[in-house]
Amino acid sequence: MTNLTSRQREYLNAMGIDVWLPKDAPAAEPRSVGWAERSEPHQEGRSISPAKEEAPVGWVERSETHQSPQHEPQDNDISTLDWEALQTRVAECRLCELHKTRTQTVFGVGNRHADWLIIGEAPGADEDRQGEPFVGRAGQLLNAMLQALDLKRQDVYIANILKCRPPQNRDPKAEEVLHCSSYLERQIQLIQPKVILALGRIAAQKLLQTNTSLGRLRGRLHHIEMTSAPVIVTYHPAYLLRSPLEKRKSWEDLLFAKKTLESGDS
Ligand code: URA
Repeated sequence: MTNLTSRQREYLNAMGIDVWLPKDAPAAEPRSVGWAERSEPHQEGRSISPAKEEAPVGWVERSETHQSPQHEPQDNDISTLDWEALQTRVAECRLCELHKTRTQTVFGVGNRHADWLIIGEAPGADEDRQGEPFVGRAGQLLNAMLQALDLKRQDVYIANILKCRPPQNRDPKAEEVLHCSSYLERQIQLIQPKVILALGRIAAQKLLQTNTSLGRLRGRLHHIEMTSAPVIVTYHPAYLLRSPLEKRKSWEDLLFAKKTLESGDS
């Protein structure tokens, strides 16, 4: 990206990314967001560790042995629901244990016709309280990442693999991912995004049904069954808050996604 506006430079600065400027380029505006500079671990919300590996989970596979609880809505008709019906179905979902501990479901937010679909792992404490994905500190960093791309939160659609907060922000269980997968799948069908950005190891691995490390998933186009939109993988903003030196790599991923979108590559 060569022609950065002063606003974009401001956000890259806030993300801790230095931007080379010609000597005669106008100076960037003073920073308006100081939160991205802190790198100490954050205790609220979700905390993502990219180093952990876990067994592969097929998020779209339906286990033949799995029996849905009786009298619960079955997921075989989710593929026909419109936005309103889907949102209601999610709000009423009791297919896994997480309904017992959630404050509310966190459906997703943004432009339902967006080119960009951003997928995180699961709601944290802030999201569980507010009913909206990525509203805590990680969400503020995500907003800055989007701003650096000249995108606003309202331009993209933001969702999670899970619609309910796992207690103590533990990793999603296979069974939870399985139940929630049809909701995200339907969101993808309805949005028809042009590019999907998976944030962090867990979102990427669940979406791509792999246990390949995040490092190896970055920098490539991936494909999933229910859409022709390519999936691009980058670090989770919560991880970037703890490891600010990786922001530069994340910026490369974002530029890769933007280029992919603009060139229509898939
Ligand atoms: N982390 C996520 O993965 N999703 C959110 O919505 C918030 C934090």
